Amino acid sequence: MGQPAKTIGRVPADHFDNGFYGQDILSVSQFDRDKLDYIFNVAHEMRVLVERFGSADLLQGKILANLFYEPSTRTSSSFMAAMMRLGGQVIPMNNVQYSSVTKGESLPDTVRTLESYADIIVLRHPEMGAAATAAHYAAKPVINAGDGVGEHPTQALLDQFTILEELGRVDDLKVTMVGDLKYGRTVHSLTKLLVNYDVEFVFVSPDILRMPKDVLDVVRETGHQFTVTDDVHDVVTESDVLYVTRVQKERFTDLVEYQRVRDHYIIDEALMATAKEKMIVMHPLPRVNEISYAVDEDPRAAYFRQMRNGMYIRMALLAAVLGKA
Ligand code: ASP
Repeated sequence: MGQPAKTIGRVPADHFDNGFYGQDILSVSQFDRDKLDYIFNVAHEMRVLVERFGSADLLQGKILANLFYEPSTRTSSSFMAAMMRLGGQVIPMNNVQYSSVTKGESLPDTVRTLESYADIIVLRHPEMGAAATAAHYAAKPVINAGDGVGEHPTQALLDQFTILEELGRVDDLKVTMVGDLKYGRTVHSLTKLLVNYDVEFVFVSPDILRMPKDVLDVVRETGHQFTVTDDVHDVVTESDVLYVTRVQKERFTDLVEYQRVRDHYIIDEALMATAKEKMIVMHPLPRVNEISYAVDEDPRAAYFRQMRNGMYIRMALLAAVLGKA
């Protein structure tokens, strides 16, 4: 983190200075192992809280502005649920086409407007770097909920939390990422987060959807082993985590090219039969065609549990940034 805490109104006497208070959450590069441990511990407590009591009043009186310029089901609704389960309230700005954005209002002005009413802003935007721009103009904390092909830090946190909850560790694992590694922001963030651990990477994609060089550079510079291939069959038997992604149709300029690669990988029962008994299959969702529905019955299919973890991670982050965790 490191930047001075932003103002969230008067600093409450009971706030915790946890290193997150008043901070923007823009990139996974803000997290080291200590910070990750902290968030995962709080997320675990949030799970227990929800399972035992359903909700708490930790963030009572706080307001979140949920500003989404791109479609979202899970990220948007889990942030809303997270805020509401902690007793806070939400301004849902999921249909920016009905807001002054349609009249030509700029991102800085929209953000300045929402922070006049809310204590924290969650932003999803199609442009890489948009969350950083918003954070620059906002005096209140901004959380990046996906900036184009850039990053999706809260997804990476919930992904790693899922690995931890499912396999009991993050070190000493072989993590295979499959699909659209070029445009998929979740794999960019997850890779940059996992380099904090002793992980071996396998990147599986068609030639035109390879992992970007800047992400591979981080893997190289941190001394991690990795393999690049286009055949998932070759590598699945050795994998501990199989992280599957959707081909990001909305990022293609040439739809013929999209049609050519969209069904390149389909994870089915036959492939699962060759995998380790303890492997987990993850997917940030939405799934289009990449994992056959029959795989949902396999106990190794972790993607619905992964999706539920999103709410606990977002509860932990909101509480931490607002000084209540
Ligand atoms: N929901 C994820 C994202 O917003 C993954 C996807 O859309 O494919 O990046």
